[in-house]
Amino acid sequence: MRSLEEMAAECISELNAIGIKTGDVSFTVNTRAKKRWGQCRALGGGRYEISISYRLLADGSEELPAKNTIIHELLHAADGCRSGHRGRWLQLAADVMRAYPEYDIKRCTSAEEKGITDDNAEVKRLEYRYFFRCLGCGTEARYKRATKFTKNPNAYVCVKCRGKFVDSELYSLLSPEQRSLLETAMKAAAPRPLTKSLLKQVLDK
Ligand SMILES: [Zn+2]
Ligand SMILES: [Zn+2]
Repeated sequence: MRSLEEMAAECISELNAIGIKTGDVSFTVNTRAKKRWGQCRALGGGRYEISISYRLLADGSEELPAKNTIIHELLHAADGCRSGHRGRWLQLAADVMRAYPEYDIKRCTSAEEKGITDDNAEVKRLEYRYFFRCLGCGTEARYKRATKFTKNPNAYVCVKCRGKFVDSELYSLLSPEQRSLLETAMKAAAPRPLTKSLLKQVLDK
């Protein structure tokens, strides 16, 4: 992983060189957040904590996308985290880009623009918690929160093929033969949920 400290120190000295003071900032690598590139928190007393997504710091990644984000966050610190992405923050971003035309300080940046295309799909996927697949045609059904469907998918059928839905993870473990056996068993049990013992019977075949 690239050194966040080193890149941050470069960014700070570049900002200082054009008269932008950032205050007392500490940096952390955020290994969890998938939806956010960076974040700046005011800790009080002129101190700030900036976290930067590990996704921007991968070995072999370009430096510029990471520095754009680091500067974006440093400008929040410079502004006391007061003006959001308007007012003084926007003015400072314009000053930076005038002095250093290689930078592109935006309010928000898509994964594609950061050169992280795969993760973009993953980020979208993370908004969903429940994944099912139709045993008949493989169509995926996704839900962000629990619904009548997620509680008992066997009360429903696929609109495309009238097949039965199972958890996507289970689906991926099944052979084509097991899929059709399971579908037959589920149709017989519907609209009641498939019992664990019935599922086991099918999987043992
Ligand atoms: Zn921001
Ligand atoms: Zn289907």
